[in-house]
Amino acid sequence: MGRTNCSNSNGAPRQSRIRRTNAALRRPGRRRYARWRAVSLSLVYLAFAAHIIHWKLTGSTLAPLELNEVMYTLELGIVTAGFLFMCFLVLGTLIFGRFFCSWACHIMVLQEMCAWLLRKIGIQPKVFRSRLLLYIAPLTAFYMFLWPQIVRAWHERAIPTFHYATDREGWASFATNNFWRNLPGPWIIALTFVVCGFLVVYVLGTRTFCTYVCPYGAIFGLADRFAIGRIHVNHDLCKHCGQCTKACTSAVRVHCETAQFGTVVNPSCLKCLDCVSVCPQEALSYGFSTPALFKSQRAGGRFGLPYDFSLGEDLLAASVFVVVLLTFRGLYGRIPFLLSLAMGLIVGYLAVLTIRTWRRADVSLSTLPLTNLRRFTPAGWAFQAFILLLTAFVFHSAFVRYHEFRGLRDAIALTETKDAMARNALAASASHHLLIADRWGLFANERVERSLARSISGGSSSTPILRLRRIVPSWRPRERCSAIFWFAAATTPRPCRNFRRLLD
Ligand code: SF4
Ligand code: SF4
Ligand code: SF4
Repeated sequence: MGRTNCSNSNGAPRQSRIRRTNAALRRPGRRRYARWRAVSLSLVYLAFAAHIIHWKLTGSTLAPLELNEVMYTLELGIVTAGFLFMCFLVLGTLIFGRFFCSWACHIMVLQEMCAWLLRKIGIQPKVFRSRLLLYIAPLTAFYMFLWPQIVRAWHERAIPTFHYATDREGWASFATNNFWRNLPGPWIIALTFVVCGFLVVYVLGTRTFCTYVCPYGAIFGLADRFAIGRIHVNHDLCKHCGQCTKACTSAVRVHCETAQFGTVVNPSCLKCLDCVSVCPQEALSYGFSTPALFKSQRAGGRFGLPYDFSLGEDLLAASVFVVVLLTFRGLYGRIPFLLSLAMGLIVGYLAVLTIRTWRRADVSLSTLPLTNLRRFTPAGWAFQAFILLLTAFVFHSAFVRYHEFRGLRDAIALTETKDAMARNALAASASHHLLIADRWGLFANERVERSLARSISGGSSSTPILRLRRIVPSWRPRERCSAIFWFAAATTPRPCRNFRRLLD
C-alpha cells in the first residue's frame, strides 16, 4: 500500500524524475498504441463515409448506429441497430473496460484531433476539475433512460413489447431509407463539431466532454467498475517516475492508483493505453484481474488533486449551466440536448472566469492571459466584450424560449379544450406568446409557426381573421410565407380560404 509518495506539494509528478527519464522516453516504439488508436479512430470516419455512400447509392441502408436510439427502443419498444450496438458495447465494457470510448467513438476523434492541433501551436489543454459538474453526465443518463420509465410507471402506462419494425411503421429496426431520422442537419452537426470538439477542449481540456457531459460515458463508467480488463503495474519494475500520470489525458493519477491498488481503478480510464506506451520501465500492461468495483482514491476526490473551483464558484457554474441548458435546449427547434449540455458547461465555466477577472490579479483562459497584476490585457478586454455579447445572447434566447414555452403550452391546451370561451382565451394567449417568440427570434422555428397558425385559427370564427388582418401586414416576407403554409396545413378549408383572400 502506498509504495510511493504520489504527489509533491502541487500534486504533480516530481519534475526531476520526469527529466531523468526523458532519454528513456525517446525510445522508438513507445507510441505504438497511439498509432494503432489513430488508425482505429480514422476508420470510424471511413465507416461513416461508407454508410452515407451506401445510402446515397441504394436509397436504403443500415439504421444509424446512434447510441441515442436506446431511448426510442425503451419508449416505443422497437428494437433497433443502435440499441443492439449499445447493448453490445455495455457487455464488452463489463468484460474488457471502456475500450470503445478511446478506440472507436467519433466524439473522441474530434477531441483528440483538436488536442493534437492545439499542441502543434504550443497549447497544452489542461484538465478541468470540478466537484459539482461531475454529476451532469450521470444525471443526464438518468434523465434520458430512467426518468421516462419512472413517468411511465407513474401514469400506469404499459411497458412496450420489444418488436421489429420497418420504415412503414415510422421507425425502422435495421434497414431504413431515412438515414437522418435522429441526426441533426449539417449546420448543427458542424456546430456540434466546433463546440464539443474544439471549444470544449480549448476551454476545459481534453476529454472534458467525456468526463462531464456524455451520458453514455456515465453508463460505460459504471460498467467499467465491474470489468476484469484493467491496466496493471509490475511493482518490481515501476520507478515511480509519474510519466504515466503525465501522459493520461483522462486525468487519472495512474502512478498513485497503481501504487495503491496494483491496477487503475478510476472509471475515467478509457483504456487508451497511452500510459502503457510511455512507461520507460515497461511496468504497465493491460490484463485481467478482479474488478475495481467502487474502489477509489479517497484523498483529493475523483481527481486525486484539489478542485479548480471553490464551492461557491462551483455553485455559480452549476447555476449558469442549468439556465443555459434550459435556454439553449431545442432553441429554434434546432439545438440538440447534448450540444446544449456542452454549451451550458462552457458558459458556466466562463461565468466563473469572468468573476475571477474582476477579483484576481492573474487570470488566464487556457494559455491566454486575461489579467496581469489586476489589469486587463488586450485579450482580457476582448474577453469582457465577448462575455457581454454572450450574456445578451443568452438573455435574448431565454426571452424567446419563455414566450415559446408559454405559447406552445397554451396551443397544446387549445387542442384539448372543447369549451368555446376557454378556446378563445387559450388561442389569444397562445398566439400572443408565439407571435412574440416568432417576431423576436433570430431564426424561423417550424414548431412555433405551426402552432401559431393553429392558435390563430383556433378561436372563434371572426377572431382569427380580425387578428390576422391586424398582424400580417407587419410581418416579414419569410414570416408571411411560412405562416401561409402552416395556416393552410393547420386549418379547415374555410378559414384557409379566408386567410388567402386576406393576403391577396
Ligand atoms: S464518454 Fe461519450 S463522448 Fe466520450 S468517448 Fe465515450 S462515448 Fe464518446
Ligand atoms: S508505471 Fe512506469 S511511468 Fe508510471 S510511475 Fe511507474 S515507471 Fe513511471
Ligand atoms: S490510465 Fe492509461 S489507459 Fe487509462 S485513460 Fe489514462 S492513459 Fe489511458
